Amino acid sequence: MANKKLLSALFILMASVFISGCATVSKQPPVSTKRETYLKDICARNNVSWQWDQVAQVVTLKYRGAKAKVLVGSDLVLMGEERVTLSAPARTVQSAVIVPPDFQSKVILRLRQEASQKKGYAIPKFRSIIIDAGHGGKDPGAIGRTGLQEKVVVLDICKRIKKILQQRGFKVKMTRESDKFVSLKARTEIASRAAADLFVSVHANAARVRSAYGFETFSAPDLGFVDRIATQRKINEGLMFSNLSIKKNALNVERIVSDMLYEHKQSESKLLAKQIGQKTAKLIKAKNRGAKKARFYVLRNTLIPAILVEVGFLSNSKEEKLLKKKTYRQKIARSLARSISDYAKGTR
Ligand SMILES: [Zn+2]
Repeated sequence: MANKKLLSALFILMASVFISGCATVSKQPPVSTKRETYLKDICARNNVSWQWDQVAQVVTLKYRGAKAKVLVGSDLVLMGEERVTLSAPARTVQSAVIVPPDFQSKVILRLRQEASQKKGYAIPKFRSIIIDAGHGGKDPGAIGRTGLQEKVVVLDICKRIKKILQQRGFKVKMTRESDKFVSLKARTEIASRAAADLFVSVHANAARVRSAYGFETFSAPDLGFVDRIATQRKINEGLMFSNLSIKKNALNVERIVSDMLYEHKQSESKLLAKQIGQKTAKLIKAKNRGAKKARFYVLRNTLIPAILVEVGFLSNSKEEKLLKKKTYRQKIARSLARSISDYAKGTR
């Protein structure tokens, strides 16, 4: 009996917490609006169903299998794997959600496009990418038997990746473009300030066992509480949030955004590491050593999906010889860029 009572109390609570709407079929075409609109009206016009979780302050929109999450009190919308920033925050007025004018083009239209998406007409998950060439300056990284330095190899590969990704329509920023020392802290701050969607760190391996060879990728393991509130993560959150217009002192909203970003980053990074590792290794005809988890600083302290790739072993004389060649570096760059681009566009 007690259980039953508890259950019904819970049910009442749930019913009062979730408010939802499912628009009936509307033949009206999507309209563009010049002013703020009620979310429920814009959804009804476009046949989009919505559910508002008033505790989490998240409105989930659905249209034929395509989904978006609107965070009330912020200008952030998560569309599948993509983050969209509105011109102004979604806000509540007399217990109704109001959205800015660009909600129609940035969210509703894309939701509809995504639902009707045909192969080859995908909306990329990522548009803006940070390419991080490991080491630099006083830090040479791994050094091969013939003296080939990791910092030189990875910078050259990264410049090539940047060029190819730009040709493919992505916005690319590098954490260093020359042989200079950039701290790990600074690298994560560059990534957080840039409002980018993906962070790719490029390294070359070294191992005591000189026979070790191949290509491998890493993503961060699930982070514990202490890692999640690490000073650098908090600094980076501040940098990233300054790009979003979250109401000042809205701690609850910041916590929710922080959790959403974390969940998003963890699931995406894992998939990315796996898919990019498999595809790139295949394209460059290298052994795939697999997608692994590692607590690397740049993976732990970035807030966007982040992976680290090890393109080959400088400690292996055969791979060192390959990594010396411009043609092989170009091959790696082309293959990595293609794998990233395929992932972003959802093609396998
Ligand atoms: Zn390295």
